[in-house]
Amino acid sequence: MMFNELQRRLHDWLPNGPKCQLHQVRLRMGKTRIVYGLIAESEKRLEACKSLFPNANSVTLGGCEVCTNSPRTQLRQYCKSCRAAEREWNEQNPNVRW
Ligand SMILES: [Zn+2]
Repeated sequence: MMFNELQRRLHDWLPNGPKCQLHQVRLRMGKTRIVYGLIAESEKRLEACKSLFPNANSVTLGGCEVCTNSPRTQLRQYCKSCRAAEREWNEQNPNVRW
């Protein structure tokens, strides 16, 4: 936990970090939820993701292997604007799930 926090701060501090190609804002480091099991991502969602929130990265697909000590979260880069766009899209498309 301590190390993750340090990594996150260091990342936010670096001046030339990667940017979101869509929103032109710096990507930030944050926790993402890891989802295990087979997940059928809908075509509609994939399309929206590519064009509207390419760096939302709110969920990481962890595959089918689940151990009791499998991590539940992971640090990844994400774009704040993409996450906002994803949230909005989720609200407009309540029937399209992961
Ligand atoms: Zn973005």
